[in-house]
Amino acid sequence: MSQEFSIEYALALDAADPLKAFRDEFYFPKHKGKDVIYFTGNSLGLQPKSVASYIQQELDDWANLGVEGHFHAKHPWMPYHEFFTKQLAELVGAKETEVVAMNQLTVNIHLLLASFYRPTKERYKIICEAKAFPSDQYALETQVRHHGLNPEDAIIEVHPREGEYLIREEDIIQTIQQHEDSLALVFWGGVNYYSGQLFDMQSITQAAHAAGAYAGFDLAHAAGNVRLQLHDWNADFATWCSYKYLNSGPGGVSGVYIHEKYATNIDMPRLAGWWGHDKQTRFLMEKGFRPIPSAEGWQLSNAPVLSMAAHKASLNIFEKAGWEQLHAKREKLSAYLHLVMSEVNRSFTEPVLKVITPDDPTKRGCQLSMLMLKDGKKIFNALTEQGVIADWREPNVIRIAPVPLYNSFEDVFRFGKICRDALLRVSK
Ligand SMILES: *Cc1c(COP(=O)(O)O)cnc(C)c1O
Repeated sequence: MSQEFSIEYALALDAADPLKAFRDEFYFPKHKGKDVIYFTGNSLGLQPKSVASYIQQELDDWANLGVEGHFHAKHPWMPYHEFFTKQLAELVGAKETEVVAMNQLTVNIHLLLASFYRPTKERYKIICEAKAFPSDQYALETQVRHHGLNPEDAIIEVHPREGEYLIREEDIIQTIQQHEDSLALVFWGGVNYYSGQLFDMQSITQAAHAAGAYAGFDLAHAAGNVRLQLHDWNADFATWCSYKYLNSGPGGVSGVYIHEKYATNIDMPRLAGWWGHDKQTRFLMEKGFRPIPSAEGWQLSNAPVLSMAAHKASLNIFEKAGWEQLHAKREKLSAYLHLVMSEVNRSFTEPVLKVITPDDPTKRGCQLSMLMLKDGKKIFNALTEQGVIADWREPNVIRIAPVPLYNSFEDVFRFGKICRDALLRVSK
């Protein structure tokens, strides 16, 4: 047993962690009176303790001001979405004109496809990853049908090769080149929800553009997790949710990025609502849509202030922690988890699990997906009984995501130990 796979070593890493105090800013669910080991921040981030007071502020302003809250609330509701611009621009590496908080993720996928998937007779194909998150698959399938096309013909999926779990980047690029005469759009996940693979969005964008197609990204598992430079990468559009890595509560508001060359173009086709209309004339309530010349011009409705208040509470914590510190800790945490899992394997004569997420830290975020080579479901149940909240995916994968804001190296060590003990028991 290596010296790193010990509680002393994990506690020493925690003691040296500049972000360790942030754990106290979150509520942890309890198991037998103790904090659970929470490794599903990739599914629903924990609640910041500050959320209640942010929401209470809006409830008080609503109680005391009624409709006047639109102008006179402490944080006026009329421009409420604007309070997110700076933080979202930093989050995804964009200019302030390129981002807006609005709607929910799947709605935004459809709105963006309405603008960026305009198939013609010659160019109508969409390239996406095989086994994309179901909502993305359904969105693409129904968009294609909406245009009177056949998904079997229009949607090209790139698969991992036979016997492999990850999609090779050369296969993505090669598929794009192969369809360059008929390709309208490449729509890709920044980080795959199942394997945890982080894709090179810059080269996917370059290849899509070289083929004369748009490149758009679903960042549900990337936003708040990995470094993003959407503007510099020249990505055309992207959208993400705020309830996974961004800890903004179930069904929380989504975010959108649209490259400025489209965001500022008021002739860009779109499906519109009054909140996207020019702010000076919005309340004249006149005929004729005139979009705000920024990503805000894609808004449909006035801001869902109560859920956005939770988002604000959470983004303020990220701002306090600092993205560079968060990325540094994320890399250390996932490297430690990798080490711990190899130690678990080493306790047996044959490997008991295989981490399918890339070894290369630049090709992954927080999440590691472990393929359980035997008794997977039993091990998962044992983990649950011991107060570990992880995620089971058929047929045999356990996904775990230690996040830098509230997980500790001790969490990772304890997880490894529980896992090994469960495997030892089962294999007897
Ligand atoms: C979580 C997730 C969704 C969920 O969509 P909602 O509209 O927020 O319910 C969609 N796509 C991906 C890739 C996801 O990871």
